[in-house]
Amino acid sequence: MCGIFGVVGEDAAMRTLEGLRRLEYRGYDSSGIAALIDSSDKSKKVKTERSVGHVSSLAAKVNGKFEGSIVSIGHTRWATHGGVTENNAHPHSSSDGLMSVVHNGIIENTSDLLTELTKNQYKMASETDTELIIHLLHLEIGDSRDFETVFGAFKRVINRLKGAWAIAV
Ligand code: GLU
Repeated sequence: MCGIFGVVGEDAAMRTLEGLRRLEYRGYDSSGIAALIDSSDKSKKVKTERSVGHVSSLAAKVNGKFEGSIVSIGHTRWATHGGVTENNAHPHSSSDGLMSVVHNGIIENTSDLLTELTKNQYKMASETDTELIIHLLHLEIGDSRDFETVFGAFKRVINRLKGAWAIAV
């Protein structure tokens, strides 16, 4: 059983990491976190670290790199689509690096969704079903980044997914 944790607020990444430690008892094969750093980070890109094995390995990589984080999501993975590799560990990011997703569960209609994304020039960086979600969201919103647009698009995307899941973006 895998787990998701998310924090909005001060020191979000380190608090997310602590959340993942609390979820370790559920079992997992790899883990990762992504965070937005405060507004002084002009790139607005999501910073990500992932690791195979224990959350302690992730913690060693994260150490000192997420100062000033204001929003963070984290994941402990139990692989269903794609091997146990760092590249398949969550979070998965959009190609522009501005959004990131974690997901527990299985998406069953991956092949149709992948065909659509491939037609729209999206390239997969992992073997997971999860990565489709963030590209579908990007396809829906284009360059818009206001909350209402993104949230509306997210609801449309999840309505298209078949299977069972929990998702944080
Ligand atoms: N199906 C996803 C994957 O294989 C999520 C697995 C999970 O629930 O951790 O990456």
